[in-house]
Amino acid sequence: MRIEIKTADQLKLMRRAGLVVAEGLQAMADAACAGMTTGEVDAVGREVLARNNATSNFLNYGSEYGVGFSGVACISVNDELVHGVPGTRELIDGDVVSVDFGAIIEGWHGDAARTFIIGEASDVDATLVEVTRGALWAGIEQMRAGGRVSHISRGIDDYVRSQPRRYGTLREYTGHGIGSEMHMAPDVPNFHKRGPSPKLTSGMALAIEPMLTLGLHQTSVCEDDWTVVSRDGSRGAHWEHTVAITDKGLWVLTAEDGGEAELAARGLEFGPLAD
Ligand code: MG
Repeated sequence: MRIEIKTADQLKLMRRAGLVVAEGLQAMADAACAGMTTGEVDAVGREVLARNNATSNFLNYGSEYGVGFSGVACISVNDELVHGVPGTRELIDGDVVSVDFGAIIEGWHGDAARTFIIGEASDVDATLVEVTRGALWAGIEQMRAGGRVSHISRGIDDYVRSQPRRYGTLREYTGHGIGSEMHMAPDVPNFHKRGPSPKLTSGMALAIEPMLTLGLHQTSVCEDDWTVVSRDGSRGAHWEHTVAITDKGLWVLTAEDGGEAELAARGLEFGPLAD
């Protein structure tokens, strides 16, 4: 499967979509509180899309194969790991909430996720969230022209294995190429795997998205055909960014600052394209 190479103008449209995604995730994280339903959190995301004249790549996703997704965000709580369907579930103190959100601007896609905790967090949950975020940046750190997708997978895997505690890494769900569609070649696994792996070049964009649990990696899908839960009931976290490789370096399209601060802290080149 060929990997789509974007022109500078296409990456700039993806940046516009990415900024809408960043704004929506921030608005949903700011709004979420005990007593609010996941459907109400989703509605905050809908408002942000409407305000920016963006459309949703999540809404109705998969309808050609079965039950289309009914929200603009996947909202997954505690042992729900990914693809949680927003609805009547009320958030309570201590809930670990993963929100995955996307936007389309002029046909170009952005996709990102973050996890936060409602009210007081236990130490173990707070560390889970921080380690998953660290795993995302450990993957981004390995993304470069001339490198391979497997370097990203390995970066994530090595980082997770280096933690004092063990975490489960989801295997059936991976990061992915993104651009004129949300899910494109190549897959970006979150664990190291032997074998050939695609080469990375300038103009590529990938959604990197580690999904970790406090227990084992095995999952099952709920009766709504969407919500993915851990089989052992353990809680999970999920962080994701859409990241582009430009001639100058990396551009984290779904980070408000384009990734500038985190990239600088890791000694990596920040490569935004000027308007
Ligand atoms: Mg994604």
